[in-house]
Amino acid sequence: MSAKCRICSNETTILNDPQFQMSYSVCSVCCFIRKNDPSPLTPEEEKAHYSLHDNTFESKGYVQMFKNFIDKGIRPYSLHKGLALDFGCGPGPVLATLLKDLGYEVDTYDIHFEPNTGYTEKRYDLITATEILEHLDDPLPVIMSLKNLLNQNGVLAFMTRFHSNDPEAFLNWWYRRDKTHISFYTPKTFRYIAEKASLKILLTDERDTCILSRL
Ligand SMILES: [Zn+2]
Repeated sequence: MSAKCRICSNETTILNDPQFQMSYSVCSVCCFIRKNDPSPLTPEEEKAHYSLHDNTFESKGYVQMFKNFIDKGIRPYSLHKGLALDFGCGPGPVLATLLKDLGYEVDTYDIHFEPNTGYTEKRYDLITATEILEHLDDPLPVIMSLKNLLNQNGVLAFMTRFHSNDPEAFLNWWYRRDKTHISFYTPKTFRYIAEKASLKILLTDERDTCILSRL
C-alpha cells in the first residue's frame, strides 16, 4: 500500500529496486522520494559511517564545494553577517571555518560530533544545513524548527543533491547508494516545503542548492 507524501501529503507510488531489494515512495506532485523501511543503523554505526567521509581542509574538492556554495548561495542573500549556525556540521567543520573567515560568529551542531543543543535557545541570521536533508526520515518538522530559529531577515541555506525526476536514472544514481541517504528532493519539492513552512525561496539551482528566508 502506498503512503502519503511526507512533504505535500498527496498519495505516493512505489518504485521498486529489484537489484537491492528495496523500494521508494515517489510523489508525483512535489517530486519528493523517500526510501521505504530504511535499514536502521545504530547511532554508533552512523557515526562510524560519517567519520569515513573526507570532510577536512585536506580535501580540496570538499573545501571548494563550500566556497562555491558560499559564493552562490550565501554572499548574495545573507547580508547581515551576525550569528550563524552550521546545523549538522559533521566531524570537520570546514564550512563553519569559512563562515568565520567571512565575519560570522558561528555555532555548530551535529547529533554525532557536536551534540550541544544550546543552539535551540538562540536566534540566527544564517543557518546552513549541507548534506543533511538526505539523511532525514521526516524532513519537514526539522526544517520548520530551523526556520523558527531565524531572525527576521535570517537566511536558511540547504545543500542536498537533487534527483532528476526520472525513475530509471534514479535507480542508477550513485547518490542513493549511500545507505544513510533516505530522502531525495528536486527544486519543485522545495516549492512545497517553502509553502508548508512559510518560507520564501531566494534561490534554487538545478543541482543541489536551495536558499530560503522567512516570509
Ligand atoms: Zn509530495
